[in-house]
Amino acid sequence: MDLGISGKRALVCASSKGLGFGCAQALAREGVSLVMNARTEGPLLEAAEVIRAETGVEVVTVAADITSDEGRARVLEAAGDVDILVTNAGGPPPGTWTDWERDAFIAAFEANMLTPIALMQALIPGMADRGWGRVVNITSVSVKAPIAVLGLSNTARTGLTGFVAGVSRQMAGQGVIINNLLPGLHDTDRMISLDQAAADAGGISFDEARAEKYNTLPAGRYGTKEEFGATCAFMCSQHAGFMVGQNVLLDGGATNTTL
Ligand code: NAP
Repeated sequence: MDLGISGKRALVCASSKGLGFGCAQALAREGVSLVMNARTEGPLLEAAEVIRAETGVEVVTVAADITSDEGRARVLEAAGDVDILVTNAGGPPPGTWTDWERDAFIAAFEANMLTPIALMQALIPGMADRGWGRVVNITSVSVKAPIAVLGLSNTARTGLTGFVAGVSRQMAGQGVIINNLLPGLHDTDRMISLDQAAADAGGISFDEARAEKYNTLPAGRYGTKEEFGATCAFMCSQHAGFMVGQNVLLDGGATNTTL
């Protein structure tokens, strides 16, 4: 299927690795030129080169912390008038709900709620003026089904989800389509480190820790960043123009709900 977005330009935040990289790569495969971002320059430059070599699209890189005012300003300056925005950043740390102080909540709100909101506020008006735009916010399965140890994620990402629910309906008539993409368990660097930690804590091997997780998933495996990126690219496509304010769950069936 031709997604109809060849020649468009996208900002994909936090995209040197993992789910953000999957989204950047999938968009580039559709002929979309990119502004890619991550904090660490080396892996970011390598990721950009992989995508350039495969697809030939133009890729601009900005090494910056997207959750800081200064970093976001540099990314937005490089982005200019992008047609597509994919918001992403690292997730909050795990813990216990009784232990989180005000500062922990503020940090989670900054990274996983206020940063994507600031990016949308900066870029959506230009999309609306040009009559076309797409926004995909990478959130988490935690907004559909709370994860006990990730209460900071449950809280901050649900705030973002409420913001998107309202704004997406205000902007759809001007050609700007805004949705959220909710990852369940995916095979990224983050999952490798979580599974290694589980293996170390349980005195089992990495493969045994993975097998235990796979057994909890109807699909019997983790999702891949390629699958995630392909779904994101569809949500950024011409064909997604009637998909407004949705929360698209990619979790291999793990969330046991009817709707
Ligand atoms: P990952 O493999 O660790 O990759 C994270 C990417 O984001 C890297 O490119 C990293 O590069 C960049 N990054 C992190 N913090 C950043 C910041 N402040 N500013 C700019 N770039 C930043 O993580 P992932 O698994 O793809 O996860 C992406 C998001 O999805 C996270 O919010 C995570 O909580 C959420 N999520 C993931 C899963 C899963 O199964 N993987 C499930 C649910 C939710 P630098 O470190 O160099 O900045």
